[in-house]
Amino acid sequence: MTHKVLIGIGSNLGSPQENCKKAISLLYELESISILKQSSFYQSEPIGKKNQPWFVNAAIEIQTTLSPESLLQTLLNIEQQMGRTRSEKWGPRVIDLDILDYEGRMINSKSLTLPHPEMLNRRFVLEPLSEISGSTIHPVEKKSIQNLLNELPPTPVVKKLSGS
Ligand code: ADP
Ligand code: MG
Repeated sequence: MTHKVLIGIGSNLGSPQENCKKAISLLYELESISILKQSSFYQSEPIGKKNQPWFVNAAIEIQTTLSPESLLQTLLNIEQQMGRTRSEKWGPRVIDLDILDYEGRMINSKSLTLPHPEMLNRRFVLEPLSEISGSTIHPVEKKSIQNLLNELPPTPVVKKLSGS
């Protein structure tokens, strides 16, 4: 059985765009995952802690044989492999890989919340996601990703990186 899953990617340390590309290439190498779609890269103003570098964000759609929990473990392993150390929440990070949606499943376990609870409020998630999956219906809100994006305020700013 394969499953279609939406993943959000972000980085704001070192070379953020390169870090995002590296994470995608590490996912690409895995037998259990194929990459179906990839958004452009976006630059986004940090939220929460303001005095940190801007982020680069992207979204991908994958096809996978992994369960939600195994996929989460795989993403956390890649974060570790790329040298992410967990310090303060909202702080700078070399790579962040989040499961945004797993075929509309709703999960509330200790380690995993689906759909990702913060995506609704985050332009830096919905903007790249709308590019590859704008008509996907959010299972809780029952609205499309595009509609959810349209309802967000214009700030914090998210800009498409030209040529990406
Ligand atoms: P954030 O992405 O909110 O900045 P972290 O990347 O530090 O936070 O993630 C902390 C924990 O969030 C992870 O260890 C993971 O268990 C949990 N988590 C819960 N739901 C999800 C999800 N949908 N995708 C990724 N991680 C999740
Ligand atoms: Mg995360």
